Amino acid sequence: MNPVEELEQIAREVSSCTRCILHHSRKFAVPGEGPVGATIMFIGEGPGFHENEQGRPFVGAAGKFLDELLASIQLKRSEVFICNVVKCRPPGNRDPLPEELAACRDYLERQIRAVNPKIIVTLGRYSLAHFLPNAKISVVHGQAMKVGSRWIVPMYHPAAALHQQSLRPIIEQDFARLPQWIEQASSTTSSGQETPEEKPQPKQLSLF
Ligand code: URA
Ligand code: SF4
Repeated sequence: MNPVEELEQIAREVSSCTRCILHHSRKFAVPGEGPVGATIMFIGEGPGFHENEQGRPFVGAAGKFLDELLASIQLKRSEVFICNVVKCRPPGNRDPLPEELAACRDYLERQIRAVNPKIIVTLGRYSLAHFLPNAKISVVHGQAMKVGSRWIVPMYHPAAALHQQSLRPIIEQDFARLPQWIEQASSTTSSGQETPEEKPQPKQLSLF
């Protein structure tokens, strides 16, 4: 199966998935969307009300803000891949439970392999925890960190920034630095080796 077919296959499996209890209350599962080979993949928490109604990620208020943040760095939504750690809406937008995150994990891993992004932007703490279970978002947000062969850039969730005004300038600043991480990631070879010429080095934290 080529990566495009694999993404389609994952979306079909997600749409009829019964691996966790969230399938009982969903209207539409929300697999995620975007092109294979997207440089950046954004991973949120889970579908909210509007996403559950439409079967598409980030189409409510948080999605509108995400669109603005993307536009602020001249990125179009169609150029990036957008999905969530859980593909079905937790009732009342409650936090996803550990068993739901575990049940859904494999879909996300397969999507990452199929899309093969250079940079993964985690939105919110559940998405961050998928990659760095012990990292604190207040400490690591905005920093590019290498996890395996990919760069992870943790950010606050856009919905959190809408509810808590003090976070808004922080997420805007973290977005403003994304082009720098994109340039850095694009200068690495597919084997993950840095190219010889000097580039600004992302800060590495001593987490691993
Ligand atoms: N919040 C998320 O985490 N994901 C969405 O798709 C929408 C809102
Ligand atoms: Fe399946 Fe994930 Fe939906 Fe649970 S949240 S039913 S594991 S697709």
